[in-house]
Amino acid sequence: MKKILVGTHNLGKFKEISSLISKKYIKINPIKLKIPSPKETGKTFISNSRLKANFFSRYVDYPVISDDSGLCIKSLKQQPGIYSARLAKKNGGFINAMKLILKKLKNKKNRSATFICSLSYKDHKRMISVKGVVHGQISKKIIGKKGFGYDPIFIPNSKNKTFGEMSKHKKMLIDHRYLAFKKLKKIIKTL
Ligand code: IMP
Repeated sequence: MKKILVGTHNLGKFKEISSLISKKYIKINPIKLKIPSPKETGKTFISNSRLKANFFSRYVDYPVISDDSGLCIKSLKQQPGIYSARLAKKNGGFINAMKLILKKLKNKKNRSATFICSLSYKDHKRMISVKGVVHGQISKKIIGKKGFGYDPIFIPNSKNKTFGEMSKHKKMLIDHRYLAFKKLKKIIKTL
């Protein structure tokens, strides 16, 4: 069976990306191979996902898929954006980071936000990068215990629930990673 390294140390993202990839691939986790995380020095989602794919592919001789993703809030000048994971780390976890965001948005009329995901696929022949975007609104409160990260404050457009209230399966079929993956699969049909 073919192998693919799903280049993320985030278990939530590992599970989500792995379940999108064809059953024909064995999905390898970098944690199991004791591969460290690269420094995210890029300034965009695309450059960070490419940097990760390049980094992880130095450790294996089979294909690698990496992502970089985050939450961009319009009235906060698209922050936290590529710093989404770092904002949580700096503030002692996602609950605190979400509380901080809700506080900053308290007097803002515009609560529009997007979740963005860039996926990069690399094998010995090529590197392909794509981007998926899901549009929505930041909720007034932290709602829902499902999912991970900022899921409990993001309500996708056309739904009246946060990602944190949706089942994993329902969220997965509308989110930014899925939209990016669909684009990638059009190019790499075996995925
Ligand atoms: P990175 O791509 O490893 O830099 O981390 C992106 C961060 O963005 C994650 O740690 C989460 O905080 C957040 N994030 C990305 N995608 C999602 C999602 O689908 N739900 C909730 N939070 C997300």
